[in-house]
Amino acid sequence: MKSIYLLLIVGSYGFGSCNQDVKSEEPENTIETPEQQPKVKPKNIIFMIGDGMGLTQITAGMIAKKDNLNLERCPIIGLSKTESADNIITDSAAGATAFSTGVKTYNGAIGVGTDTLPLKNIIEIVETHNIATGLVATASITHATPASFIAHQKSRFMDQEIAADFLNTDIDVFIGGGKTHFTQREDQQNLLKQLEEKGYNIATGIEEVEAVGDGKLAGFIADDHPVKMSEGRGDVLTRATKAAINLLVMGDKGFFLMVEGSQIDWGGHANESDYIISEMIDFDNTIGAVLDFAEKNGETLVIITADHETGGYAINGGDRAAGTVDGAFTTDYHTATMVPVFAFGPGAEIFSGIYQNTAIFNKMLASYGISIE
Ligand code: MG
Ligand code: ZN
Repeated sequence: MKSIYLLLIVGSYGFGSCNQDVKSEEPENTIETPEQQPKVKPKNIIFMIGDGMGLTQITAGMIAKKDNLNLERCPIIGLSKTESADNIITDSAAGATAFSTGVKTYNGAIGVGTDTLPLKNIIEIVETHNIATGLVATASITHATPASFIAHQKSRFMDQEIAADFLNTDIDVFIGGGKTHFTQREDQQNLLKQLEEKGYNIATGIEEVEAVGDGKLAGFIADDHPVKMSEGRGDVLTRATKAAINLLVMGDKGFFLMVEGSQIDWGGHANESDYIISEMIDFDNTIGAVLDFAEKNGETLVIITADHETGGYAINGGDRAAGTVDGAFTTDYHTATMVPVFAFGPGAEIFSGIYQNTAIFNKMLASYGISIE
């Protein structure tokens, strides 16, 4: 045994020092392959992110629901590699920036590259093609995931600056928490007034959100983060998503909508199976409503994925009949494991395979038929 071990060490040492062609640690996302083109291009894309939604979170939801999840209706499955530019374990800011800009950046970055300079995001790109755009989240709308689709800031904790960035875009609809970041500000500005002057309907509470019949919408479902499902949030995510679709579908050039199930991740951070499961089922109910729309509409591509897994979550037992799981966790932070990608509708086929999270950005643009230099 000892001699074999020594031989291996000598062998690898010799290889590494003599062979100039062996490159060390080339990040995979720098290898550019032309993006596969969809057979039929969709008019609309609904991109759904279950924050922290790994395979175990999905499985726990299935067991607790004692039935198939809606996301099982998706015929195409892929796997996304989630690491960020500076860490094998991504955070939600770098994860969402990879989706929104196609570039891997450092953890904490909101729509900026490793040089902290702004990167064009998918909302800014498709807007120039007159495609309507929207964001829905069950966190503050300034939180890392939705923020990375609209803002350009060097840190995810700059909520006030992120809120101000909403005025720098032409986003048509956004619905989430975080109203106070627009109203109680160090610069004394009332951003809601400015949004109103830009033509937005301002709505507070889900009923007001649903009452907006046309035009642009800034919808707030909480002053800070919306509460947990277990604290009575209700079906706000599904209702907000339907309201956003109803407004966006009026444009004749198609739309892009990002919907986040924000708090699956927070259940993982809390190491609470019940929290994960209730948020997972809520997100899946919204997936059901989105797939119902897509099925009827026929021109909508739905992509469902996660930015990363949270908790190192495992199911070490449970009761199928009772719908209970014995959850275990290896961490209260995120993990580096790949996450699934589910796709439904025209163009779904290009989402099969194993690829970097940044490829999802390229695949979405290829689906619209938009090429960027
Ligand atoms: Mg998030
Ligand atoms: Zn997290």
